Amino acid sequence: MLMVFILIGVAVVAVSLVGFVVLTRGNDRREAIEPGALIVIDRPDADPSTALDSEGVTALDEPSGIAEISAVSDASVEELERPRLRDRLGKARSVFSGAFASIRGRSAINDEVWDDLEEALLRADVGIGPTTELLDAVRARVRDGGIEGTDELLDVVKAEMLARLEGPVPLDIGVEQPGIWLFVGVNGVGKTTTIGKLGRRLTDEGHTVVMAAGDTFRAAAAEQLGTWAERCGAAFVRGAEGGDPSSVIFDGVAHGAAIGADIVLCDTAGRLHTKSNLMDELSKVRRVADKGAGAVTEVLLVLDATTGQNGLVQARQFTEAVELTGVVLTKLDGSAKGGIVFAIASELKIPVKLVGVGESAGDLVDFDPVEFVDALFARE
Ligand code: GDP
Repeated sequence: MLMVFILIGVAVVAVSLVGFVVLTRGNDRREAIEPGALIVIDRPDADPSTALDSEGVTALDEPSGIAEISAVSDASVEELERPRLRDRLGKARSVFSGAFASIRGRSAINDEVWDDLEEALLRADVGIGPTTELLDAVRARVRDGGIEGTDELLDVVKAEMLARLEGPVPLDIGVEQPGIWLFVGVNGVGKTTTIGKLGRRLTDEGHTVVMAAGDTFRAAAAEQLGTWAERCGAAFVRGAEGGDPSSVIFDGVAHGAAIGADIVLCDTAGRLHTKSNLMDELSKVRRVADKGAGAVTEVLLVLDATTGQNGLVQARQFTEAVELTGVVLTKLDGSAKGGIVFAIASELKIPVKLVGVGESAGDLVDFDPVEFVDALFARE
């Protein structure tokens, strides 16, 4: 009898030990995330067994293929109207159109013309360096070409502006699925909103999308992204508040691979760029994102056009932490500082790939230099 008790005791101890080892190993990777904190918002039309709770979320222990994500979401039934850049550049256009109209009215290219041109470029926040460089090039062409009329002068200005802009440069999904796109930038520039708009566009196009809420420092950011995901039928992965952003991105990518997603859109935290830990963290996020399935094909710096030249200071700091593949310029609808596009091109040498022109889902346009410059020169 005693022997039986001893055997049962040994068996209990052994089972507990094995259980402990399995549990701790399972939690290694996400040690900063509370167990069960990973949340995936399911598609509204998915399997009822994974139905959303009252807050619209389903809690999962592990990234799993539970969300039955089909390529087209319900939300895409209502087609989005794509705005024309020209219709949304109100303030930026008026800075140039006033100056161009007064220049066209002059009979000769005199000092006043050059002053007006310079003033318009500076007011549009092209920046001193790029303005001087651009006007020097225009002066040389005017002199060498014997140009005397102001209309021809403006043609040269337009051509020189265009020559400085790269694009349109398409976003790269890559060949290895899922393609991973990271969005970086300081707080409030529009990262979360841009991911939401882009998620909507991609799901409309038939792509399967995962949104990963890497901004774990701001609970509202994850909730905001969750709402966008729910609306467009993207899968959504988030971690515990204050958790390790890299873990969330890792889990987002793992979930993307598990459900056969085409693209994982990763939000990141944007606390003040002066904190070097943010930059360290972004480097880590980048490394971790590349570790699992798929490949990072875009690292997009989101810049708020209303901050003009200040955005460039931020941009330089981000370029030191992560290798950027493009810029998303948001809030161009409310900014007179459209000239920042030229400053970005000349100082950062990174293409502007997308432009935000409003707060709604459709208010995101691919940046096309010809369309942009044409809009600035449009007469009415
Ligand atoms: P994040 O902190 O970088 O994630 O910034 P959010 O995505 O939360 O955006 C901050 C604010 O900017 C929100 O009120 C957005 O609606 C607004 N916003 C974002 N993009 C645009 C845009 O292109 N135009 C306008 N007018 N507002 C925008």
